[in-house]
Amino acid sequence: MNIDIQSRVPSNMQTLIQTLTSREEVIWFNPQLQAFSEAITNSPLTLSDVQAAEARLIRFAPFIAKAFPETKSAKGMIESPLKKIDKMRENLERRFHQEIFASLWLKCDSHLPISGSIKARGGIYEVLKIAEELALMEHRLSLEDDYSILDSEEFRSFFSQYSIAVGSTGNLGLSIGIISAKLGFNVTVHMSADAKQWKKDLLRRKHVKVVEYDSDYSKAVAEGRRQAKANPSCYFIDDENSRDLFLGYAVAALRLKKQFAEAGIIVDENHPLFVYLPCGVGGGPGGIAFGLKLVFQDDVHCIFAEPTHSPCMLLGLATGLHDSIAVEDIGLDNKTAADGLAVGRPSGFVGKVIQPFLSGCYTVSDEHLFQLLKGLAETEKIYLEPSALAGMIGPIMLCKQGNAYLRTHHLEDKLIKGTHIVWATGGSMVPKEEMEQYLNRRV
Ligand SMILES: *Cc1c(COP(=O)(O)O)cnc(C)c1O
Repeated sequence: MNIDIQSRVPSNMQTLIQTLTSREEVIWFNPQLQAFSEAITNSPLTLSDVQAAEARLIRFAPFIAKAFPETKSAKGMIESPLKKIDKMRENLERRFHQEIFASLWLKCDSHLPISGSIKARGGIYEVLKIAEELALMEHRLSLEDDYSILDSEEFRSFFSQYSIAVGSTGNLGLSIGIISAKLGFNVTVHMSADAKQWKKDLLRRKHVKVVEYDSDYSKAVAEGRRQAKANPSCYFIDDENSRDLFLGYAVAALRLKKQFAEAGIIVDENHPLFVYLPCGVGGGPGGIAFGLKLVFQDDVHCIFAEPTHSPCMLLGLATGLHDSIAVEDIGLDNKTAADGLAVGRPSGFVGKVIQPFLSGCYTVSDEHLFQLLKGLAETEKIYLEPSALAGMIGPIMLCKQGNAYLRTHHLEDKLIKGTHIVWATGGSMVPKEEMEQYLNRRV
């Protein structure tokens, strides 16, 4: 390990770090988890911030419905289904020789309209917020207007005076690129080496400028940030530090509450909820976990999932070093087929906000991601990208290795009445040939 970093890592962390370095799968429970009532008093963000984001998305719904006809039936709401996956539950229990007790559901953000991943929440929200602020400031729009007027030559020409830039491993670039181009912004996406060719091709077809790097995500973001700084009419969407992205994701939780009511899912003191969220830089899972804690408080237990080669958030939280430590510092290569999670250094902003709310993090191998990808395709005919399977092993990890956590929180007897939600974060836009390759991969 890097000597300077070594001196700052708490000594009781050595065993955990050795396990991470060896790339063994591991689950870590967060000793800094607080009761909700305590955690929220010190939180820089609150329920009213999330409600304001939800209100903004409602104002934009008429625009979204007009500009993206696939959202018309949902009246311009960008939302995804919640599906019970009983066959996959059996498959999991058989595969890992472990009962998971509670029922198993999949939250299909993989099938969100417009960009087919979780980034259709935060990414699109932040661009809409920028557009609204500009249009309000220049008195071209008022809060009471029907925002479908934004889908017009007049507004596209107005927004074309401004640029938007973002650094991405792929999916954030897709979301920001598609929505920005639709509004008329000049948009540049700085793509890391992990980004898939089809994502770059798709963006270029939509007249988005794509800049490619042969380095990883952190470099693409740093370079994008640097170039954007030189241009005062350019807005840089900062995935490592964005409060707006975070709030856009958090809205998911307010809507999930309504979906639960429709599905007959009960969450209360005797019916615990466990949610497994794939984590890259942290904004997506962090925002959603924060929202879930606001809604379900101590009855929800949120756990992040990362590849064994890129456990950046686990490392940042466990050591307390947040964004001043990276997976390379402990000898990992940050190379994974889960391109959406190929992030070596976590968001310091997200780590600090989420620390008192988060139950834990675990790591999962690429081999397991591909086995689960195939398993879900065969049992449920649901096709996801590798990153989106990271949450699927969560119920197994919890039930196999989480006894101490379950006991401390008096959950052992309640588990059977509880609900596991695996957050599926992407996949519906993966081209057929690419999906065939995932399915045919020998694991
Ligand atoms: C971006 C992404 C994530 C994780 O979101 P972060 O905000 O980077 O933590 C998970 N899954 C997929 C498919 C993604 O694209």
